[in-house]
Parts: sequence; structure tokens; C-alpha cells
Amino acid sequence: MSILILLLVVLIVVLGVADIRRNLITKPVFGIFKKILPPLSDTEREAMEAGDVWWDGDLFQGKPDWKKLHAIPKAQLSAEEQAFMDNEVDTLLKMLDDYKIVQEQRDLPPEVWQYIKDNGFFAMIIPKSYGGREFSAIANSTIVSRIATRSLTAAVTVMVPNSLGPGELLMHYGTQEQKDRWLPGLAAGKEVPCFALTGPEAGSDAGGIPDTGVICKGQFEGQEVLGIRLNWDKRYITLAPVATVLGLAFKLYDPENLLGERTELGITCALIPTSHEGVEIGDRHFPMNMAFMNGTTYGKDVFIPIDWIIGGPDYAGRGWRMLVECLSAGRGISLPALATATGHLATRMTGAYSYVRQQFGMAIGKFEGVQESLGRIGAYTYSLEAMRVMTAGAIDLNLSPSVVTAIAKYHMTEMSRTLLNDAFDIHSGRAIQVGPKNYLAHGYMGIPISITVEGANILTRNLMIFGQGATRCHPYVLQELEAAANPNAEEGLQQFDSLLIKHIGFALGNTFGALWQGLTLGCFNSSPVSGETAKYYKQLSRMSRALALSADFSMLMLGGDLKRKEMLSARLGDVLSHLYIASAVLKFYEDNGRQVADLPFVRYSIERNLFEIGKAFSGFFQNFPSAVVARLLKTLVFPFGIGYKMPADAVTQDISDALLKPGVIRDRLTHLCFIGEGDEDPTGLMESAFIAVHQAQPIMKKIYAAQKQGTVPRKIPMEQLIAKALEINVINADEAKQLVRMNELRFSSISVDSFKPGVLSKHSL
Ligand SMILES: Cc1cc2nc3c(=O)[nH]c(=O)nc-3n(C[C@H](O)[C@H](O)[C@H](O)COP(=O)(O)OP(=O)(O)OC[C@H]3O[C@@H](n4cnc5c(N)ncnc54)[C@H](O)[C@@H]3O)c2cc1C
Repeated sequence: MSILILLLVVLIVVLGVADIRRNLITKPVFGIFKKILPPLSDTEREAMEAGDVWWDGDLFQGKPDWKKLHAIPKAQLSAEEQAFMDNEVDTLLKMLDDYKIVQEQRDLPPEVWQYIKDNGFFAMIIPKSYGGREFSAIANSTIVSRIATRSLTAAVTVMVPNSLGPGELLMHYGTQEQKDRWLPGLAAGKEVPCFALTGPEAGSDAGGIPDTGVICKGQFEGQEVLGIRLNWDKRYITLAPVATVLGLAFKLYDPENLLGERTELGITCALIPTSHEGVEIGDRHFPMNMAFMNGTTYGKDVFIPIDWIIGGPDYAGRGWRMLVECLSAGRGISLPALATATGHLATRMTGAYSYVRQQFGMAIGKFEGVQESLGRIGAYTYSLEAMRVMTAGAIDLNLSPSVVTAIAKYHMTEMSRTLLNDAFDIHSGRAIQVGPKNYLAHGYMGIPISITVEGANILTRNLMIFGQGATRCHPYVLQELEAAANPNAEEGLQQFDSLLIKHIGFALGNTFGALWQGLTLGCFNSSPVSGETAKYYKQLSRMSRALALSADFSMLMLGGDLKRKEMLSARLGDVLSHLYIASAVLKFYEDNGRQVADLPFVRYSIERNLFEIGKAFSGFFQNFPSAVVARLLKTLVFPFGIGYKMPADAVTQDISDALLKPGVIRDRLTHLCFIGEGDEDPTGLMESAFIAVHQAQPIMKKIYAAQKQGTVPRKIPMEQLIAKALEINVINADEAKQLVRMNELRFSSISVDSFKPGVLSKHSL
């Protein structure tokens, strides 16, 4: 006992007396810290510093304040935005024939281009003072999503000018003169923008672009002016083939020090009219058969005046930071909107098809194998919608949460890939045969595009979510890194000293917290609500604490190596991501008034999130370089083993049942899905068939009863069955007419397109 007291006193003296602590602990730890965490590169630092830490910070630090989550206002459309949805968006959707656009015209028809330009679809983010619509992020997301349920090509065309590009960059950084010069034309659709960063040698590693600009004097409009001589070669640029204004990223050099003392200024962004001498808009690409405009641009020794730099000469070399800051907003809106659209479309159409399509004498949606896939489609769509709304909502709070938007981009596009595969499996041949009737094919073809753009997914999962998340969301690491980088060593040591004490307290709190919650299985954690979902809050708090502990240990043990150990760190990123997805789902459920019908969707979603968290931790412990530390961590966090399981089959069946019948939950879950009018429209036809088959059930029951009695034969074609039932008065003439109509719709909706010989050779796929 006395030894313990003595140890405690020594500890208090060592930690409590500043000089002793600094010499005995802080100095050596600081030395080790500097060694294991190499200084950040400029691009890394700018990426880390750009944007905001939001709810991801709470989740990462082990103590999510759920009341704070609930207090975040629910993102909603204004009356003006809703009117735009009901009028302009609706009109546009009725103008779109995606089969013709993609397979025949390979472009939007001229009248669609004109409608988009004339009605402010390119001006959603531009302020009203410049003639723009000045819509919120949630409106931008909702509009793009709804269009994407009709035509991915149209959605991407609308999305790009409202995402990272000239408009966004001008609004944030443009000089007044540049704003006045460009924004009214962009808002009116007279100018079409594109933004060129990617080239053959630099894709993911965008900081390594070889395109150059050299500051020099040259001739512009008959006068000698200070400017930049540019050389670039870019590819994959969306809207480039039709652009009138090119946003260009290049590395700027000032060898003659015409602008200042620095000779290497770094990445810079400029706006260049495509009509400017020397600007070449090259050939068009053909991305996965999609018809949106995408192509190349290049230029050799093109001279531009210096004030074409976005933000003017003051912003020379600040392009990387500008891009990183703006990318995060776009990443949280555009790709999530497209991903959610696939969910809305797939849920509505696959549910309908599973009911209409019969095999072995019953609707295929009654088979458990199909229910498993259908349940996943529905649950993923619920999660997607929840994430879409919450993430766009953050951007509407004027935040730029870079980790959260990376999570949304990666997970939502991956979920969309999974659910489209499920939709394809269920539709089988009906989804494979491309033609006007196929409402899924183009979305399926387009998925790899969503996976690739705005941060290719492997990189996003492995580097951005945890790599940036760990440093940004951690309460002390970024400041510790700054202390280590302080050129004044003594000042750095002092900064580090005060952070270290707090960091030790944080780590101890997490260690004991994780153990306590592990031993009690989180039962004593608080929940902001009572009822069915309370248990989920408790488990998520517990896993948040486990993440805080594991992340700290990993950074301590692996230091800078953690960045290279992508497989390991990505698993911690998965934990953070699933905590975020689950938070969005719980908030969505609350914001929508805790609808009982939502419960199966909530159960499936959160139980899957917890299961994925368990899986990620399991892989993390298994592969952690030190087996002893891994065992220690595992014992602290999961003393009784990882017990999370995938949702029970009954939950999956509850979801698939809900998608097999018309109703409020189906309508709510697919509210963005555009249903065309009439039997000629592929979605309209499937919806009509679905309703008709449902409405015919009471009449069919009479026929089934007659079949049981043996008065009507079984296993005969439907037309004959209806005729026979009418003949022997099992059904009346009106009922027979209804069944005939139902049968026509049913047959037409399960039919696929076929083409006369020679037709396909005219426009090869
Ligand atoms: C249809 C389409 C439209 C586009 N529109 C534009 C546009 O308008 N403007 C523009 O500038 N660009 C645009 N892009 C470019 C897009 O942003 C790039 O394709 C993307 O950055 C990936 O670059 P890459 O294709 O060269 O792949 P690469 O960079 O060659 O990557 C290949 C693979 O390696 C992975 N990878 C790379 N580095 C790492 C790492 N450190 N850790 C883990 N994995 C890694 C990637 O995730 C990817 O899976 C577009 C691309 C497409 C396909």
C-alpha cells in the first residue's frame, strides 16, 4: 500500500511540476514524436487544414453528444426551391428520353440544352444578385437526384457547373471584376464552364500535375502586359467539348521574379475563354457509353494576362487550397445525389417488378432469395437518403466538412454499386437487354464513373477518410504536429508540453471508458431517446469510444507508418464511416417523426453498420503489427468478443414486404423517383402494371377459389383463364375487362426490347 502511495506521489510530482515534467517526460516524448511523425508536406498540410471538423469530430473523439446531433436543423427545401422542383424540373424530366440520348443521339437534344440554360439549371449556386438561383445545398442535391432517376447524362450535365468549377471558385475567391465579368453569363447559361485538373500523368495525385505556367511579359490586346505562358495537356474533362470558359489548374513558376521573391509558386487556377488564341478543345471521350460531354484540352505556349488567375495575382500559388476547400462541398452533394437516385429508382422499380414477375406460380418477391436482395436495396436506400439529407444539411450550415463528405462520397457510391447489382440480379434478363424499356441499364453503366471521379474510391477510403480524419478530428494531434514543426524549438516544446498532459488525460479516459463499456456492453451508456432505437445509441457511443482508443494507440505505435499501412488505417476509417452512416439514419428517423413503418429500415441499417464496425475491428486486430498490443486493445474493447450480427432475416423480409405493395412507406422511400406518364414510358409502365396486378387480386382470388373447386383449370395461359372464368360466371364482364388490361400491362412490363435486323449496326454500342 505504502509503495502505491509513494508511486502516486512520484507521479503527481513528475506530472505536476512543470520543469520536472518537461525534462523527464515531454522532452524525450517530443523527440520520439518528431521522429515517428515526419513533417507534413505542404499539400498534405493544406488538405488537412482546409474544411471543417463537424459531427465526425464527435464520433472520432469517443463521446458523441447525441442531443447535438438531434439539434442540427433538418435540411428542407424552401417554397421557391420546391416550386422549381414541381415546375422546371418536372418539365425537364418530361423532355428526356434517356434511351435516345444515350444510344442514338449521344448528346442531349438541342431543345434540352436550351431549356437547361434558359431556366437556371446551371445557376443553382450562383447568387441572385448575378442572376443566379442561389439555391441551398439540399435543393441542389434534390434536383440532381431527381433528374438522375430519369437520365444520368442530364444529371451530370446539370451537376457539373454547380459543383467544383469556375462558378464555385469565382464565388469564393474571384475578384469583383472577375465576378462581374463571368457570373451573369454563367447564370444565364450563355457561358458553359468546365474545370481541368486531371491529365494523363496526374489523376489521383493531382498535386503532381506537370502542366506549367511561367510568369513573363507578353502581348495582350495590342499591349505588353504581365502574364503567364501556359502549357497544358488535360483529359477526362466534363463539359470541355462544349465549354466556353475553361478553369485550368497548373503549376506556376516565376523564374524572373516578376511577381515576387518566390520562383516556385505552386498550383494556381485561372479562367480562360475557350475562344482565346491557342486554347485547344480536343477530342471527346465516351465514358461508359454515357452521353454527357467529356473530353480533352491542351495548349502550347498560350499567353494569358496575370489577372486571369482566379482571385488575381494575390492567389498565385494558392490553387491547391482553393480546390481542396471547394472539392469537399461538391463531394458532399453531387455524387451522393447520384447514388441516392439509383436507390430511389431501384427500390421503386425492383419492388414493382418483384411483384409483377411470376415464376413457379408466384411473384418472385415471395421467394426468400429475392427478399434478401430486395431487403438490402430498400435498407441501403433508406441509409442513402438519410446520408444525403444530413450531409447536404451540413453544407447548408456553411460548413465544409471534408472527412464527412469523403465518407459520403465513398460509401454512398459503393452502396449504390451494391444495390444496383441486387436490382440487376432480381430483374435478371429484363435488366440485361438494353433498349427503351430498360430503366436500369444506364445507371448500372454509369456506376464506375461515380466510383472514379471526385477522388477515386480506393484512395478516398484509404487516404482521405482515416488518413485525414485521424489528424483532423483528433483533439490534439494536429496541434502537436504544429508544435513539432515550430522552427523555435523551445516554443514548440512548451506548446507540446501543455498538449501532452491533455493528450494523456484523453487517452486514459478512453482506455477506462472503453473497458467499462466493454465490460457492461454499453448498457449504462445514455441515450437521447427511449424506445426501440435507444439500444443503438448506446452501442454507437461504445464503438465511438473504441475508435478513439484504437486510433490513438495506432498513431502512437505506428506514427507516420500508419499513412502507408492503408489496409490497417482504412479499417479504422470504416469504423468512423459506419458510425456516421448510423448517426444519419437515427437522425433521419427522428426528423421524420419516428414513423413505425420506418423501423425495419432503421433496424437493418444500424445493425448492418454495427456488424461492419465489428468486422473492421476484427480485421484491424488481426493485422495490427504488434500482436500483444492488438490483444490488449481487443480485450479492452471487446472483453466478451465481437457480438454484432447482421440483421435477422425477419427484418429483411419486413422491408421487402413493404416494397411489394403500394403504400406510404414505398412512396416516401422513393420520393425522388420520376415516374413517366403512360404505358409507353418504361417507369410509368412498370408502375401501372404493379398497381393493376394489385388491384386485380380480389378478382384473381375468385378464380383461385374456382380452381380449387376444379371448375376452372389450372396452368393455362392467362387469356384463356380469364375467358373460362367469365364463361362460367366466376367473374363478370367488367372484372374480365380489368383482368385483360392487367394482363396486357403485366406482359408488357416484363417484356424486353428487340431490334429488327440491321437496326443495331446503325449505332454500335
Ligand atoms: C467521366 C469522368 C469525368 C471526369 N471529369 C473531370 C473533370 O471535369 N475535371 C477533372 O479535372 N478531372 C475529371 N475527371 C478525372 C477524375 O477526377 C480522375 O479520373 C480521378 O482523379 C482518378 O484519376 P485516374 O483515373 O487517373 O486514376 P489513378 O490516379 O491512376 O488511380 C488508379 C487507382 O489507384 C488508386 N490510388 C491512387 N493513389 C492511391 C493511394 N495513394 N492510395 C490508394 N489508392 C490509390 C485510385 O483510387 C484508383 O483506384 C473525370 C474522370 C472521369 C472518368
